[in-house]
Amino acid sequence: MNAQQIMESDNFKRCEAFHGHVCGGLAIGYVAATAGLAWLREKRALDEELVAIVETDACCVDAVQVLTGCTFGKGNLIYRDYGKMGFTFFNRRTGQGVRLAMKPDTFRVNERQIDLFRKTREGSITDVEKAELKALGMQRTVEVLGTRAEDLFSMTPVTAGMPDKARIEPSTPCSRCGEPTMASKLEMVEGAMVCRGCLV
Ligand SMILES: [Zn+2]
Ligand SMILES: [Zn+2]
Repeated sequence: MNAQQIMESDNFKRCEAFHGHVCGGLAIGYVAATAGLAWLREKRALDEELVAIVETDACCVDAVQVLTGCTFGKGNLIYRDYGKMGFTFFNRRTGQGVRLAMKPDTFRVNERQIDLFRKTREGSITDVEKAELKALGMQRTVEVLGTRAEDLFSMTPVTAGMPDKARIEPSTPCSRCGEPTMASKLEMVEGAMVCRGCLV
């Protein structure tokens, strides 16, 4: 499929609907998840026990969630705050999986886009610039979707350990705000158990 055909496909449209817009990041997640699932399918390691580990919390993760069905709530989407375009997909039962990591110099940072994102945050972006930003995002999306996964990512087979399943444990009230909190997430401060929300 070429970029245009991908953008018109049901799978991409589902990612777009979930994420709220089309952008290069979403396209990166689309390519990573599609390639990861294909790898697992080929190794017959794809079933309901799929787990995804993402090393970023950017736009791309929305495509990963839609395409793999891995979510925080189910405990099979694991976030590691590494600030990297790294994605691991594996079978929880066998541990068999693959890690995709974006190759260096695959894409150069577009300074204009960064500048326009800053203006968006500051609320100073004009309508003309909004259209420009949208066009830049679309250009990037077409670029990414038109690149083969193996050119975009290094793909390494991995044997991943089992992550903790979503745990259910009794709650204890925080000594400051009184809100029930998972006991293991409370911290002892001056002899009292305090939640992380009250620590910041
Ligand atoms: Zn986005
Ligand atoms: Zn608290």
